[in-house]
Formats: sequence, structure tokens, C-alpha cells
Amino acid sequence: MGFSRAISEISKRVGREKVLVEPEDTYAYSLDASTEFKQAPGAVVRISSEEDVRIVLEIADRERVPIVPRGSGTSLTGAPVPTSPESIVLDMTPMNRVEVNVDDGYVMAEAGATVLEVDKACREYGFFFPPDPASSRIATIGGALAENAGGLRGAKFGVMKNWVLAMEVYLAGGRKLRIGEPVYKWRWGPDLLSLFIGSEGTLGVITKAWLKIYPLPEKVVRVMGTFDRLEDAGRAISQIRRRGYVPMMLELLDRETIEIVNEVLGYDVELAEAMVVADVDGPREAVWRMAREVEQVMKESGGRTRASDDPEEMQQLYLARQGAYAAVTRAYPGVLLEDITVPLSKLMTALRELEKLRKEYGLRMPVFGHAGDGNLHPTICFDPRNEEQLRKAREMFVKIGRLAIELGGAISGEHGIGLAKKELFLEEIKAVRGEGYLEVVRRIKELLDPNGIMNPGKLWF
Ligand SMILES: Cc1cc2nc3c(=O)[nH]c(=O)nc-3n(C[C@H](O)[C@H](O)[C@H](O)COP(=O)(O)OP(=O)(O)OC[C@H]3O[C@@H](n4cnc5c(N)ncnc54)[C@H](O)[C@@H]3O)c2cc1C
Repeated sequence: MGFSRAISEISKRVGREKVLVEPEDTYAYSLDASTEFKQAPGAVVRISSEEDVRIVLEIADRERVPIVPRGSGTSLTGAPVPTSPESIVLDMTPMNRVEVNVDDGYVMAEAGATVLEVDKACREYGFFFPPDPASSRIATIGGALAENAGGLRGAKFGVMKNWVLAMEVYLAGGRKLRIGEPVYKWRWGPDLLSLFIGSEGTLGVITKAWLKIYPLPEKVVRVMGTFDRLEDAGRAISQIRRRGYVPMMLELLDRETIEIVNEVLGYDVELAEAMVVADVDGPREAVWRMAREVEQVMKESGGRTRASDDPEEMQQLYLARQGAYAAVTRAYPGVLLEDITVPLSKLMTALRELEKLRKEYGLRMPVFGHAGDGNLHPTICFDPRNEEQLRKAREMFVKIGRLAIELGGAISGEHGIGLAKKELFLEEIKAVRGEGYLEVVRRIKELLDPNGIMNPGKLWF
């Protein structure tokens, strides 16, 4: 009853044309990019203003109807997939205004703008927006904030959290919070911004954000090293960091990744046990000197190297990394993409343990990732119609999460928890976050969303 009443009142107040209820219209909102979880919502509201958000949250809270905020649905953990057929999905993509304020050093973006649109707008002024999830062409600012997304440039520039000055958020019931200010220094009091970043739509709906921007580097040189032993690649990565170089991008690929990319995409990338790709950026006069130094570190660790600042050649050096995920998903009907982080000093231990798991279970598992910030994506490949393979893949997924916890890392560096990692997340909390953690966070949830309507069933709520 509550659901039907809510939909009919929402339709009247926001406009019938914004409310989708037919199964053929709501189907597209039943999945995310993980494709493991599926549940169509009872209705979708195509949000085009803050007032729409306020109205829906007011009515849904009164009628106790679950709300699932959604950007482009590129999550890899089931985070924007409803857990009840009587849910309302808020499609934030029509709300996508972007305004650059170059004098004050920020860009204002509404939640539905894509990360790439924001980056492109900044580039017109000689600036850019550093966080760059590989999905940036479609992933939205709201989704990236709610997941605290990272990306290839994370080795130097961190994740979304590091770039937010202020946000507007609506809570269940329709209350509005403005958190932070679009200035570079501001007395915070308790830091409520961090509360919402990474909260996966469980605490409120982000409607807009003011984000820091950064001057475009004068020049970038790409350095690539191939290694006959994984250990050597690991040593090169830690030496690059230890000697004080912070490349904009510092990526690692193992042999299996290169093999799959060559097989599936028809490339001819040199086979090696490991490949390291580093983007060194800086002023025109200095960048080649720094790139040569990074190249030298790779050579000292046993690597064969190439370096270039020519856009076409740079693209060639990056082919295997760029094609990794596409190749795997094209070749295998079942893929479980892990997202662990480990302390940099434990990177090699993690890689060796992953190799053992690969042998023990006999499934292919290319490993690539943002080695510069300790974030690895072991990607388990299997056939979901084969029960034995499915069982093995799921076991490996859990063991890899546990490995990260044991090594003092985390089960997710950037993709989040969603539905896929709920149990593992509880293990991580119990192992490292102390007894009080769950209670504190549950109380925060009760305070902000007393009727539990915001994205229920996600994280640990
Ligand atoms: C090919 C591919 C590559 C990827 N590469 C990366 C990568 O390099 N780095 C990385 O970090 N991630 C990556 N991802 C994961 C994903 O793209 C990111 O998490 C992205 O930020 C999600 O944005 P979205 O708009 O698609 O959000 P959705 O998937 O729609 O939603 C994600 C979560 O955010 C919540 N949410 C969405 N909008 C709002 C809002 N306005 N207010 C409150 N909550 C909201 C949802 O409820 C959900 O919990 C990749 C995914 C794919 C498919």
C-alpha cells in the first residue's frame, strides 16, 4: 500500500513523465556492471532538480519505501541494485550541470555529470580533474563520491575524497545538508564530508559537489619496463617510491594479463613475467631527466625499458593495461574482479600468495592494478554454468579478501562493498577496526536515516 501511495503522490508532485514504472523501462535499473546481482525496482524517478530529490525523500520516508540513488550503474559490487521489488531508484543522470570557477580553483558539478565531463570542462582552462576511474566516460560524480572512486592517477593524486571542498546532500525525509565551503581552508568541526564519501547511498543523496582542480602538467613521459621475474618488478616499484619519485600513474601487470590481452584482442605485446608502466609528469625542462631516472631504477631492478612522450607510442606502451579488463570480460562469461589493497612493502608477498591460490584452484586469474598505491585487481575467470568452477571462484574471492586483511591492507581500495563484500567487510571490521566501530556507525545511520530507507541491504546495514 505504502509503495503505491508513494508512487502516485510522487508522480503528481514531480511530474508523471519523470516516473518510470513499466517493467521494460525499469529493467535497465535492475543490474550494475558486476552482473552478479539482479532486482528490478518498482519505480524509477528521473531526477532533474534538487526539489525532485526533496519531494521523493519526504514521501518515501513517510511511506517507508526504500530509495536507491543511482548514477550510471557502473558499480562492480551490486551497490546500486535494489534489494526489494518495492524500491524506488533515483536516476541522477539528468541532473548534470558543470561550472568551472578557475579563479577560485574549483569546479561545481551536479551529481549526474560524468567524471569525464567534469575533467573536460576543466581542460578548457588549462586545468584538469585528477581522479580518473577507468569508467570515467560514464561514471557520475555522485556515484564516484558515494564509492570514493580512485583511478590510474591515484599513485600521485589519491581518490575522490582528496578533491572535495563541499557537497550538498539530502537526507531521508527531505532535509538538506550543505557540508563544507568551496574555499581551500575552512574550519571544519567534525568532518561530515568524509561521512558521506564512500557511504554508497546508505546515508543520503548527494546532489552537487564543489571539487578542487589542478593545473595540467606541462609534459608527460611514459616509461615502460618488462621483467623476467615478478620480484624484480616489485623491487622496481618500491625503489621508484623510495627514491622520492611519485609518478602520476604506476601500474603493474602480470604475465597472465599480457597473455589474455594478446589472445583476445590480437595484440602482440612482449610476453614477460611482469610489466610496469609509469607516467612521469612535470615541467618541460625537467620531465625527461626524471623519466630517465625512473627508467634507470627499472633497469637496475632487471627491467628492459622503453620511454616516450609521443602520444601514439605512449598509447602502444599502454595497450596491455588499457585492454586488460575488456579482454578478460570478453573471454570469460564469469569474472570476479577483486580490488584489494596491501601496504607497499607487502606487494610482493601478496603477488606470491595470489600465485599459490591460482595454482591451488586451477582457474585463470590475471593480476593487474595500481601498484603505486598498493591496489591490486586479481581477476578470477570462470564459467558460471560450471558449478565446480563457480564454487572455486567464490572461495578464491573470499580467500583473497582475507589475504589483504592478514597483510594489513583492505578488502577494497576503490570499488566498495555493496552486496559483493558484505561478509568480508564484517571480517575486516572485526579484525582491525575495534569493537566500537560497528556500534558507532550504526548509530550514525539511525540518526541520519531513522527508518532505514536509504539503500537498505548494502554495506552492513
Ligand atoms: C570498466 C569499469 C572500470 C572501472 N574502473 C574503476 C576505477 O578505475 N576506479 C574505481 O574506483 N572504480 C572503477 N569502476 C567502478 C565504478 O565505475 C565506480 O565505482 C563509479 O564511481 C561508480 O559510478 P556510477 O555513477 O556508475 O555509480 P553507480 O554504480 O550508479 O552507483 C554506485 C553507488 O553509489 C551510490 N550513488 C550513486 N549516485 C549517488 C548520489 N548522487 N548520491 C548518493 N549515492 C549515490 C549508489 O547508490 C551506489 O551505492 C569501474 C567500473 C567499470 C565497469
